[in-house]
Amino acid sequence: MIRALMFSLIGLTGTALAWDEARVPGGLALIPVPENSRPMFMDRPVLTLKQDQTTVAVVGLALSLKPGEHRLQVDNEVIPFTVTGKRYLEQRIYLDNPRQVNPNSLDLERIRGEASRQHDALSEFQGSLDRLQFILPVNGPISSPFGKRRFFNDQPRRPHSGTDIAAPIGTPILASASGSVILVGDFFFNGRLVVIDHGEGVKTMYNHMDAIDVVEGQVIQQGEPIGTVGATGRVTGPHLHFGVILNGASIDPSLVVPEIRDLPGN
Ligand SMILES: [Zn+2]
Repeated sequence: MIRALMFSLIGLTGTALAWDEARVPGGLALIPVPENSRPMFMDRPVLTLKQDQTTVAVVGLALSLKPGEHRLQVDNEVIPFTVTGKRYLEQRIYLDNPRQVNPNSLDLERIRGEASRQHDALSEFQGSLDRLQFILPVNGPISSPFGKRRFFNDQPRRPHSGTDIAAPIGTPILASASGSVILVGDFFFNGRLVVIDHGEGVKTMYNHMDAIDVVEGQVIQQGEPIGTVGATGRVTGPHLHFGVILNGASIDPSLVVPEIRDLPGN
């Protein structure tokens, strides 16, 4: 993992920022770009930040991204950069409910509708990001880290797109940063969930909740409770699945919330 480009965001927070660069699938790339440019990655607008006199594009790199050379489109120019492969560990999960591994046709219809709502919410790019200090939403041991290659009842499924933090049912979940609630739902796999949009394509996602205390459209401040930890959706026990999304890509939350690295089990 490369941790070279750490920067402070002057004029926005006044405090030091440490979003770590990791040019791997599930990581992020920090790429200097001309001031006032509009970088795009894979046809999606990308967050830009100013560090002293330099403007930096913060590019989320999806877990599904192939290692090798990629291109950041910056207005009429292309900036190539290299993504290195990363081998994430494997996890085998056994579920009693076979429908959670091989959903029936009605389930699949529901899942498709939910996936489309989720995709739309995660694709939005609006507002401006006003603060880069993201906080831990729940304190507890990591029950499953980001990126694990998953097998449910020995069948391969998508890799883990967030960090699971174990906590008892009813534990309050705090908004990791300020923003507006853009999605509230009760989904087949993700359970009761909330997505908060922090601006410029940066979102956090909270899955498997018990109570949800916010509604879509609500503006929420960092640290405000949004609901409680639960065990809804496809789970083996109560935990918060915490996701961080940049330009539509789920990235390792510990790159944005460094406290995650200090939690037991990571
Ligand atoms: Zn999870």
